[in-house]
Amino acid sequence: MNLVKKRKITLMGGDARMLWLARGLRQQGYPVRLAALQPTAELAGDLPRPEDPKEAMRDAEIVIFGIPTLERGDFLRAPTVSREYRWEACLDLLPENAMVFAGGIPAERLQQAGERGITVCDLLMRPELAELNAIATAEGAVAIAMKEMSATLFDARCMVIGYGRCGSALARRLAALGAHVTATARRREQLARIYADGFTPCLTARLGEKLSDCEVVFNTVPAEVLTRELLESLPDGAILIELASAPGGIDRAAAAELGIKCIAAPGLPGKVAPRTAGEHLQRVILDLLQEREDSI
Ligand code: NAP
Repeated sequence: MNLVKKRKITLMGGDARMLWLARGLRQQGYPVRLAALQPTAELAGDLPRPEDPKEAMRDAEIVIFGIPTLERGDFLRAPTVSREYRWEACLDLLPENAMVFAGGIPAERLQQAGERGITVCDLLMRPELAELNAIATAEGAVAIAMKEMSATLFDARCMVIGYGRCGSALARRLAALGAHVTATARRREQLARIYADGFTPCLTARLGEKLSDCEVVFNTVPAEVLTRELLESLPDGAILIELASAPGGIDRAAAAELGIKCIAAPGLPGKVAPRTAGEHLQRVILDLLQEREDSI
């Protein structure tokens, strides 16, 4: 049972998963207000109308910004509305002592908030959320591969670069569909895990040795791993799917020049499974609120 005090919550910006989060919180009895977040027709009946941000922030005890919170530097990511909001202007609106949740905030922006006495909890730094997000990310990556390939994943030779949360979740799903999976890691311990999980292990630094045999390559490493030189060894018709956050690990300019299809696939949880992603956000936020309450 959720025993957390029903504090007033304002959600500002973000995509469809924020709407599902708002709906879930409301169903749990939290007074919820929205700003820079337009409900879809499907959810309009379950949610309050969006308000002017200044109004919506008034008396808020908890403020939740979209995940990820910012785009194009310091603009609030708010794809459901046409107006633009700067991060600094959002900070101006925050009530004193409000608990603030956000995601993927660059260090200098966090510092900017800290200088104003605002502590922001960055949800994308929470390992439990990253673990949950890996589920939808892996499913979304499989869906992209199926859409882009002219062959089945069954019997296809796939490479997954990086064997963290997304990489391992993806490898398992590809194998379940009958693909032959080579997974890469930089640490020996992870290579052993790849082997133990039933896949072909490969050191990330030596992935070039296996590339010539791959039909689909998924990258989850957020550092350049697929250089032009390596891309040149891919067979004709190979597909690249970039899952790592910008700037990613694939030299996409080189891929374009070499005529290799490269699909950038950011923000998959919000795109392929906004309801689940919203439910996961809700679980993580309520756990954090509970922890805070227990510590008082
Ligand atoms: P993770 O669990 O930390 O896994 C990252 C993997 O990359 C680990 O195997 C890590 O190895 C390896 N790695 C990191 N830096 C490396 C380097 N410089 N050289 C070689 N290997 C390196 O992260 P994750 O949760 O799986 O997320 C992976 C990426 O996907 C992140 O950029 C994340 O932001 C992004 N992401 C994207 C989506 C989407 O929708 N596209 C969704 C969720 C996450 P070690 O374990 O040795 O460090």
